[in-house]
Amino acid sequence: MMSLELSRRIRAISPSPTLSIDTKTKALLAEGIDVVNLSVGEPDFNTPDQASLAAISAIITNFTKYTPVPGIMELRKGIVNKLRTENELAYTPEEIIVSSGAKHSLYNIFMAILNPGDEVLLPAPYWVSYPEQIRLCEGVPVVLATDESTGFKVTPEQLEQAITPKTRAFLLNSPSNPTGAVYTPEEIRAIAAVLEKHDIYVVSDEIYEQLTYGVEHYSIARFSENMKSKTLVVNGFSKTFAMTGWRVGYVAGPLPIIKAMTSFQSHTTANPASISQKAAVGALGTFDQEHVAEFQHRRDFVLGQLAELPGVICAKPEGAFYVFPNVRSWIGKTYTRANQSTIVVDSVDTLAELLLTDANISIVPGTGFGAPDNFRISYATSMEQLKKAMNRLSDFVSRLR
Ligand code: PMP
Ligand code: GLU
Repeated sequence: MMSLELSRRIRAISPSPTLSIDTKTKALLAEGIDVVNLSVGEPDFNTPDQASLAAISAIITNFTKYTPVPGIMELRKGIVNKLRTENELAYTPEEIIVSSGAKHSLYNIFMAILNPGDEVLLPAPYWVSYPEQIRLCEGVPVVLATDESTGFKVTPEQLEQAITPKTRAFLLNSPSNPTGAVYTPEEIRAIAAVLEKHDIYVVSDEIYEQLTYGVEHYSIARFSENMKSKTLVVNGFSKTFAMTGWRVGYVAGPLPIIKAMTSFQSHTTANPASISQKAAVGALGTFDQEHVAEFQHRRDFVLGQLAELPGVICAKPEGAFYVFPNVRSWIGKTYTRANQSTIVVDSVDTLAELLLTDANISIVPGTGFGAPDNFRISYATSMEQLKKAMNRLSDFVSRLR
């Protein structure tokens, strides 16, 4: 019997629930079970041809060796151009580091800026990996609770009150995973006005920036030079270009931090895959605006269907591809299974289990997002699948007493 323990750091975290549920769902699908997968945040569109062709060309021309650690110059220049033209942000290629997905970018950031015990202000509901990454870097996530009443957004007053001498960073994720909340430019400016007065880094995860429905995305780094000098803008290719498997993300930020992240990356993963970098160069500038209209159509459908169900409270998401209904009123109810046995829905986790086993719908319970009254639906799937799922959900709810 082995008595050696795992590290304190690793024992403090749990596996990503979004990825665990997706893996479980994909295994059920592979067995031929007709589950509708509304769990993972993964666009159902194809990677743009320009990206795929660039990758094929990289392979056949032997562009398959180590590259500079922070990414090839061609890609970093392309990202600089994107930030200038789409976000009105001026960076040099040296202020960009490309990593193996935005998840990797975020981890590099926390490694570069956190000392043990440093606090990171984290608005909840939050994406599952933020608190775990902060803990892995021995930081302390300090949760700023939000709910439907403020559209899941922190207020400037709430932020001001939470700042202490231990605060090292504030995490802003707009559009948000899992709530779909988008801060308006005015709201961003009000938050920035608070942050300007303090020496705090801002980690601005803008990975869903292209997916907004009627609200303009505004990067907090645009607020002022001072704000920009403290902000790490995180973005990637997974969501915008349906390139989740290629693993390309990046950070734009102040040179000393980018250098520190590059140093760390040089000892851990080194460069992101050379082929994926070429694919990313191919993808830049190909974002298909029709995807926005399609996502908005799906969002409206899901919202409309949820509104028909008893006891659901649902804020209207203005971005990303998630809906985050509050089903507190379902907790404690009894569900009658097909064999007439009954089971109490004692939490959203039980609800998610039952939806999977008895209704063949895969969703993510809110627990891992710091929101135990909610669950997340990813509507990055076809209308046909969404219709099937919402019918099944309605049948499921009719069996709750
Ligand atoms: N940030 C947010 C808010 C996310 O939802 C995700 C999940 N895709 C990521 C970062 C990481 O994306 P990736 O590693 O695929 O670039
Ligand atoms: N970010 C996506 C999600 O929340 C992909 C899975 C993950 O990396 O968490 O579903």
